[in-house]
Amino acid sequence: MFLSFNLTAFAQTDTCQTVTPPEDFLESIGVTQYVHSYSSKKFNLFIHIIADQTGHSRISDEEIDDWLNLLNSDFNSGNITFEVVGKEIIKNDYFYYYSYNKFDELISVNPHDNAIDIYFLGDATQDAKTVAKAESIPSTAFVIGAGWKGTSVISHEMGHCLGLYHTHEWRFGKDFDGSGCEEKGDKVCDTPPDPGLEFFREALEENNCQFDENWDISPWICCPQPENIMSYAPPTCMQWFTSGQISRALTIIENSSVLQKAYFYISTPQNLSWHNYSGNPKLTWDLVTNPDADSYNIYRNINNCGEDCGPFIHIASVNGNITSYIDNDITISYKNSQLNAYYYVTAMKQNHESFPSNIIDVPTNSMAKPAEKNKNAGKIKSVGVYPNPFNSSITISFYLISDSIVNIIIYTLLGEEIKRINLGLLDKGMQNFHVDFSNHNYGIYYYVITASDKIIDKGKLVYLK
Ligand SMILES: [Zn+2]
Repeated sequence: MFLSFNLTAFAQTDTCQTVTPPEDFLESIGVTQYVHSYSSKKFNLFIHIIADQTGHSRISDEEIDDWLNLLNSDFNSGNITFEVVGKEIIKNDYFYYYSYNKFDELISVNPHDNAIDIYFLGDATQDAKTVAKAESIPSTAFVIGAGWKGTSVISHEMGHCLGLYHTHEWRFGKDFDGSGCEEKGDKVCDTPPDPGLEFFREALEENNCQFDENWDISPWICCPQPENIMSYAPPTCMQWFTSGQISRALTIIENSSVLQKAYFYISTPQNLSWHNYSGNPKLTWDLVTNPDADSYNIYRNINNCGEDCGPFIHIASVNGNITSYIDNDITISYKNSQLNAYYYVTAMKQNHESFPSNIIDVPTNSMAKPAEKNKNAGKIKSVGVYPNPFNSSITISFYLISDSIVNIIIYTLLGEEIKRINLGLLDKGMQNFHVDFSNHNYGIYYYVITASDKIIDKGKLVYLK
């Protein structure tokens, strides 16, 4: 089958307007070997939402949150994550009615050197709707329009920020047959030569994003990747980066002082283990270095159904120079043990949390040491509320030190009680309850837990769509 196509028909709907710089960043710093092993990277994002002068933006917070979730999921394979550290609304008609020539002015509005700045536009103009442009390759800013919401075009622009070229890049030479893949094309070897998939958009849409080997793309060898996020295939086809692309991005990150300022890198605690310390589990793990941790968080989950069953609850924190914790609330029991206490540890640095360590399990028979009944009447500990923010229901978990009559009460921001759950007399030990909010409005709520008529915990809940 031979497809004819019209070059000019696609020129106005290019997925992205990012301009490839004349020189490759890695050549300019003399690095040619891509890295393959790496630590997790958590980039800071600063979100700028462009609104008109009345504050109307034509793109909602929920749409942006969904879009950022997609960004995180696309970079998951590289252990690269993104976290919003700040957000502003820019009320400005000049930018709201965007045209492509305003790009440089827009990315100079309140930029951050410790974050990647994303400027979100609505669809007030055609250019606002279709803009998708990174400052450079690599860089720490891009502008994206509402026309691409819900697609991986956001990850495509982030890919440029992290040093990735289009799969059809020609500036460094055409790799018709894949030879010279490190110097030519997109400088990545597991992305086949790509003649420019924008010329095949309609055919790809009809063909369910599959490239047909019979399509005449000579002199290029077959077959470009319509699902590659750095291609110009229809945005609905874009799904993944290759491991070569992730490798290149990580190499750029390792070598770019500008990108390094935009992420926090915290090593994950390694080799969590436990031993018997006078009948209680003593957890130990390896010291996190380079950078040091400010502190470690210890999480525990007690149940009889496995580590994935039930919530992990933050039970304690220790200073960053300490690498052990004795859990005096858990008695080790090898004989007839019916429960397991599962643990993991995370490292904290400047309020950023690492990925969890390995999970360990400790056999136990009792939830805790025998309670001193009278003294502990109505006492609970280790309250956990998750998820928070949430989007329909929450689970409240707590550990009762002795049998108690417990109530959970939910208030609005204005103090109006909207829900009172009388749980009655509960046995001591771990307790979990679901609270459903599906009949209530989005917003901020407060919960109060009472045990034996005393308020023993309260806190804020954030209900998002
Ligand atoms: Zn692009």
